[in-house]
Amino acid sequence: MCIFCKIINREIPSNIILENEDFLAFHDINPKAPVHVLAIPKVHVDSFNEVAPEIMKNMTKFIQDVAKEMNIDKSGYRVITNVGENGAQEVKHLHFHIFGGAKLSWSHLSDANPKSMI
Ligand code: AMP
Repeated sequence: MCIFCKIINREIPSNIILENEDFLAFHDINPKAPVHVLAIPKVHVDSFNEVAPEIMKNMTKFIQDVAKEMNIDKSGYRVITNVGENGAQEVKHLHFHIFGGAKLSWSHLSDANPKSMI
């Protein structure tokens, strides 16, 4: 069982922010911004590559609700999901990082030439 499924099953502790029948949101253990929350579906899906559009419909609303719960909906925030090896995905259970609570930077993403594919 993956680590996020264990969090869903309460086999591993987490700092939960919001939960409903289908989704869970909890604080990232290694925050990269004042607000760094992970939102996940309770059903195991490896990554964004495999997720069904029907799940994303309610996932979108859930992420919006997390932003409201954390009081960052008005000030702004960033949503990221890492996919696969080049996406630097470490945990193979679909999750959306929700960052906020400060002005976020938007800079260096890789050492490759960013114009090499243009
Ligand atoms: P990613 O690289 O997109 O797969 O990100 C995985 C994220 O999960 C990282 O930001 C980790 O800090 C976070 N993480 C890993 N284990 C836990 C845990 N037990 N509780 C909360 N966050 C975790």
